[in-house]
Amino acid sequence: MNVMLKRERGSQMSLTVLGSIVNSSLVTLKDGQILVIDTGGTAEDGKQVYERATAMGPVAFVLNTHEHADHLGGNKFFDCPVIASAPARSAMGKYNQELYPLPDISFSDGLTLYLGEPVELQLQGGHCPGVSTIYFPERKLLFVGDLVFNGRMPYMGVADFRLWIDNLAKLETWDVDEVVPGHGPLGGRDILKKQRQWLEAFVADIKDWQAAGHSQEEMFARVLEKHETPDRWHDMVKSAIRLVIEQYR
Ligand SMILES: [Zn+2]
Repeated sequence: MNVMLKRERGSQMSLTVLGSIVNSSLVTLKDGQILVIDTGGTAEDGKQVYERATAMGPVAFVLNTHEHADHLGGNKFFDCPVIASAPARSAMGKYNQELYPLPDISFSDGLTLYLGEPVELQLQGGHCPGVSTIYFPERKLLFVGDLVFNGRMPYMGVADFRLWIDNLAKLETWDVDEVVPGHGPLGGRDILKKQRQWLEAFVADIKDWQAAGHSQEEMFARVLEKHETPDRWHDMVKSAIRLVIEQYR
């Protein structure tokens, strides 16, 4: 695979985002230590994230934005403590622990790391139960994991749509210049709004089609007409339709 360097800025306090399927970020702290946020879609990608990170400096912590395996591929290579939210850690319990060892530290609502500057982890939920934000207030830099898929359909197979939409609306009010999504290119605060509006439109479509008497199968066909949908996500879309109907009764 090609690790694509999406962004590298400054030599001090730099941010490197490596992305192929999924974004992994390397943040250089003031003392030269490295913070790794998500570790790649596969073990092969994860190895490259590990090698890149350790070449940059000692790795202080690995932070996982959430429990989905495509963000955990390289966790097993790192010796440092791995941190994720409690619901994320609990969901990771279903994976093979040799491939995806459980995080060493978990938090229920939030956790602030003081690493020369505050790094605020906060449980959000919506995309999945364990999804959290990682916020660097002094840099106005926000990592949102899969709360944002920039430029493509989001994975909604286990979504809590109301919570997801509400959380994006809340994050839009934070003092942030740069947002790193779970998938797709970095952006400004606008990518939070774009994702919220996309989800609101998706929910509104399902509600409209339901009011017009469409079956779930017909709704599925309309989603495929309207949105570019990878074949492997057909079941995901069917689940998402069912979830909207259940959650907006
Ligand atoms: Zn995800």
